[in-house]
Amino acid sequence: MTSTTQRELCFVLRAMPFRERDQIVVLLTENKGKIHAIARNSVQSRRFGGCLNLFTASEVELDSRSIKVSEETDEKLVGLQSAIIRQSFADIAKNFDKMSAASAMNELILRTIPNHRNAPELFKLYSNCLVMIRENESRQMILAISNAFVLKLTQWLGVQPSVTRCLTCEKSLSEISGDHVLGQVARGGWACTGCATESRDHTLSKDVIFDAYQAILNPVRKTTFSASEREHLELLQYLEQHMLYHVNGLERKPIGSYQFLKSGI
Ligand SMILES: [Zn+2]
Repeated sequence: MTSTTQRELCFVLRAMPFRERDQIVVLLTENKGKIHAIARNSVQSRRFGGCLNLFTASEVELDSRSIKVSEETDEKLVGLQSAIIRQSFADIAKNFDKMSAASAMNELILRTIPNHRNAPELFKLYSNCLVMIRENESRQMILAISNAFVLKLTQWLGVQPSVTRCLTCEKSLSEISGDHVLGQVARGGWACTGCATESRDHTLSKDVIFDAYQAILNPVRKTTFSASEREHLELLQYLEQHMLYHVNGLERKPIGSYQFLKSGI
């Protein structure tokens, strides 16, 4: 008999109770992208332990004989046979900013990336960002990591903002005067203060644009961030508007978890 199970490293993005003892989970897997799976008899089950908690890297056994849920959308539900915890990031939940930043990553992946599209680079990005969120205590760094995640996600989605030059005069950051630029949501980039007027635009410091540039060029774990907490918060607000405007699946509905991250209780 040939085996129908496959092993995959994954993170749980969302878990929903289903019937009395089952759960439906949305997983970000290393090699199969984002998938929906059903874990039968997993409620209070020792077989699954804490594997289906949020912010947990688990190795799962998937049944490749998936159930087709919808003919129209070709949506499939994969059977989840067993799971073993590889790494828990549960302590993230003890800190409000960390929890908000990690939840925002889950929300963005749930809302923006298509199902069943292999995206190993997104899996790596998510996993690296989660490690960094856990390791860093300062709010400035947590906001900077959130911004780096969004910039790389927009890169993957093909809607990355242009950060290197003024959209109008094409001068680089070092060639323009002043210490800030103006984010232009609809145009997908920034303009210098000589080219745009200040009203209704997002004011972004040159330092935070430089951080954004670094985050696009380098792996997230090798990026150094120099702009302040306030400057990264302004960038986060700009990036949220950028995504709502340019990413189709978001339907202009704000990123819920950002409301918490922005408030910084
Ligand atoms: Zn300009």
